[in-house]
Amino acid sequence: QFPFGRRLPCDIYWHGVSFHDNNIFSGQVNKFPGMMETVRKITLSRAMRTMQDLFPLEYNFYPRSWILPEELPLFVAEVRMMKDRNPSWKPTFIVKPDGGCQGDGIYLIKDPSDIRLTGSIQSRPAVVQEYICKPLLVDKLKFDIRLYVLLKSLEPLEIYIAKDGLSRFCTEPYQEPTLKNLHQVFMHLTNYSLNIHSGNFIHSASVNTGSKRTFSSILCRLSSRGADVKKLWSDIISLVIKTIIALTPELKVYYQSDIPAGKPGPTCFQILGFDILLMKNLKPILLEVNANPSMRIEHEQELSPGVFENVPSPVDEEVKVAVIRDTLRLVDPQKKKRKDTQCLLYPGVADGKLQLKPVKIQVKYGMKDKQHKHHSLKLSLKLKFYLKLGSCQSVEQAPEAGEELPEAALPSLCLKQVFPKYAKQFSYLRLVDRVAALFIRFLGVKGTTKLGPTGFRTFIRNCKLSNSNFSMAAVDILYIDITRRWNSMGIDHKESGMCLQAFVEAFFCLAQRKYKSLPLHDQVASLIELCECRLAALRGKRLLWG
Ligand code: ADP
Repeated sequence: QFPFGRRLPCDIYWHGVSFHDNNIFSGQVNKFPGMMETVRKITLSRAMRTMQDLFPLEYNFYPRSWILPEELPLFVAEVRMMKDRNPSWKPTFIVKPDGGCQGDGIYLIKDPSDIRLTGSIQSRPAVVQEYICKPLLVDKLKFDIRLYVLLKSLEPLEIYIAKDGLSRFCTEPYQEPTLKNLHQVFMHLTNYSLNIHSGNFIHSASVNTGSKRTFSSILCRLSSRGADVKKLWSDIISLVIKTIIALTPELKVYYQSDIPAGKPGPTCFQILGFDILLMKNLKPILLEVNANPSMRIEHEQELSPGVFENVPSPVDEEVKVAVIRDTLRLVDPQKKKRKDTQCLLYPGVADGKLQLKPVKIQVKYGMKDKQHKHHSLKLSLKLKFYLKLGSCQSVEQAPEAGEELPEAALPSLCLKQVFPKYAKQFSYLRLVDRVAALFIRFLGVKGTTKLGPTGFRTFIRNCKLSNSNFSMAAVDILYIDITRRWNSMGIDHKESGMCLQAFVEAFFCLAQRKYKSLPLHDQVASLIELCECRLAALRGKRLLWG
């Protein structure tokens, strides 16, 4: 730990909350710039809405959502329209403050008029979302799944999913929402941080009982009841890939702004926490994505009134240690060089051929150690580190040169690669990614995430999108209209100009004008192809002149 900053470059930087250090020029950082902003409730809902507009069927795993306060009139109008069409529809909605976590400020409503408009909604924007009324129940309780996902690289896109996750249970038996039970958080909200305060919360030493269990234990139960668990996993994988595809355009804008291409900088990776709800029919629904999921493997226990102690939590340990261990194995900076490295060899485990990278752990003590004492301390620490990584409890002695730890001593990877493995199936969804590439191209200067009016004009000119029906004056009006509206509702007021989402909206407008008769998806795809083609031709010409 470097509480006061660090002087020497490191292989891996493990930041606590977010990417915040602009003085890193090499190595790997465990956070992406802008991830916190990208997965906030409002930004996520916007990104999902864009994808739902383009691919309604593919993105139906995210509940219909409206952004407050700006979409309140739309929310009211749409609900009224749907009720008129189907008078037997008795929906429930969940209101979630933007940037909130752990269930903070969340409440359920039956009618748009129940939104609490007093003061806070203006100062604290929120998302209102269709409430999933028929979740899958286990032991009569609602539960959700926390799955850990490693975004190993953005370009090229590399995604891994942990084979096991956590299931977090409510502590009151579930009933479909009625005006009487709407406020019962222990019945409707699965947050651990809330339910821990219920007298019914059960801390269990086993991974398949209690209020927090492994997801695999739930799958076992479902499988024994004849459920198609393979299909469920494949739906979950598809949900994760599609969600990350929806997030990448925004992430790429932040990335180029903090780590410009062609200049020395670190690469990034990040462990994300996906919160997923299963419907009665086993359809997975995305609730949210956490940029900074808790990696705690202990919980607090009250020994006597006011006296707390941290005790190990076997379920958390089972899932989370494997996620961190395998993330380190996957981002291992020495991997490529491993053949050349001198490895430590261990006694007592004869078969297999694991080659461990030498890990430098520097321990500085204030006390005066004799040389050999210091050395043995270092060795035992090194060993402990390996043991944690490998969960290889049988090795007790310190290593001696010339002995080897077998591959078999490390458990098989719990992180399973899903992208690029399934890239072929999902690549057609990456349309907004290509719009973002156009946006980034015209951003130009390092450090910006917003496009100025000149950049937008250059984009129109280079792609030859203006003509007698669409003059440059009309282009300027389009820019001003959309930018002003987005900036009036945006969270980021630091920079002026057109943000990515505003550019995407302008791009969709241009596509609709140009290809009137096509469905939205085809309009956008056609305009992207046209722009890419014209820019490639322009580059060719410039090269020729050059
Ligand atoms: P937070 O970040 O505050 O935990 P979430 O979006 O995760 O906010 O919501 C908190 C809890 O509310 C979830 O864990 C889930 O139990 C419940 N919940 C959230 N959205 C829905 C929904 N659309 N339908 C049903 N339950 C939901």
